[in-house]
Amino acid sequence: MSDAPRIEFIDLKAQRRHIGQAMEDAILEVVREGNYILGRQVEQFETGLAAFCGARHAIGVANGTDALILVLEALGIGPGDAVICPSFTFAATAEVVAWMGATPVFAEIAEESYNIDPGGLAAALATAKQNGLTPRALITVDLFGQAADYDPIEIFCRENGLVLIADSAQGYGAAYKGRIAGSIGDFATTSFFPAKPLGCYGDGGAILTDDDEQAALLRSLRFHGKGSYKYDNVRVGVNSRLDTIQAAVLIEKLKVYAEEIEKRQRVAARYTAALADVVATPRVMPGCVSTWAQYTIRVDSRRRDAFQAALQAKGVPTTVYYPKPLHQQTAYKHFPVAGNGLPISERVAQEVISLPMHPYLDETTQDYIIESVRDALKREASAA
Ligand SMILES: *Cc1c(COP(=O)(O)O)cnc(C)c1O
Repeated sequence: MSDAPRIEFIDLKAQRRHIGQAMEDAILEVVREGNYILGRQVEQFETGLAAFCGARHAIGVANGTDALILVLEALGIGPGDAVICPSFTFAATAEVVAWMGATPVFAEIAEESYNIDPGGLAAALATAKQNGLTPRALITVDLFGQAADYDPIEIFCRENGLVLIADSAQGYGAAYKGRIAGSIGDFATTSFFPAKPLGCYGDGGAILTDDDEQAALLRSLRFHGKGSYKYDNVRVGVNSRLDTIQAAVLIEKLKVYAEEIEKRQRVAARYTAALADVVATPRVMPGCVSTWAQYTIRVDSRRRDAFQAALQAKGVPTTVYYPKPLHQQTAYKHFPVAGNGLPISERVAQEVISLPMHPYLDETTQDYIIESVRDALKREASAA
């Protein structure tokens, strides 16, 4: 154990070694200028964020959860409405629907991508209607950094009058058949929680859309429903703004984001080349580039705990995203589930485990992780 290196699951300090000085300068500049709320850096960052993915508007908000809530609010989604979403995701995706008084209807994922299965959407829509609900929207998730399968999803939404909201908290900047996540969907949302691929130094989030009117409405909603100026309140809103210091940090991080996505490809490719013969490695769909928010493998569910413990003993941190799909969680198990249940969501939740992943994972450390994983699998196999 004494020779085990100190490995971070996501090493934010490594990024600071690369761009730390520029970020500290940018933070200090905000402190000195004193425009802490909606200072010039917020608009500058919003412009950069929209341009990076090719959306018309970006609206900075307090976090990724608020980004989703504000979109639902702008759409007037509430009691009696259904919003279809996956169950194998972070709680926020469905939480926001329930928070608005609407009903999340959980749909099945595709086993290869862990993203919502376009083939299961008709069943989800039927379930919503059978429950007497009005289907209003679909929230997709770009899980682990890979864009959902948007071509068929967009057709389905158009044919059924559903608003498409892409929860790109993990996948902002991912490529999907020539498009970039953030610009896909009627609305896309993202999170700048520090551990996300594009993260800040606290909480932050954004909404992206091409719709001028909705963008103006969202800017009003995030600022107490303001009209022409601060003390002109034309509607009920909330306080949910991206703060200036976080925007300043994000301006610097966005400058290196494309390069970091490239670096993540190298790390992921090395993992896959070294592990595909012994374990189920992640699959990237044709025409897609993942942001690799997570590098997630799958192991025998009965041996996952022992596998994780063996890696822990070697100083290799791992995390299980997500151990329980939302439709099996206390807070969400009373909501409708599409068709005859979600066996794939339930099974993968038992099998997934994510390895350390960040753009600055050096080859020596990665080789140590790879060897530890192969060792742990071998030991598990002989114990089985
Ligand atoms: C992180 C995350 C969110 C929420 O973002 P916060 O900024 O933490 O509120 C929503 N959806 C998904 C899929 C996420 O991973």
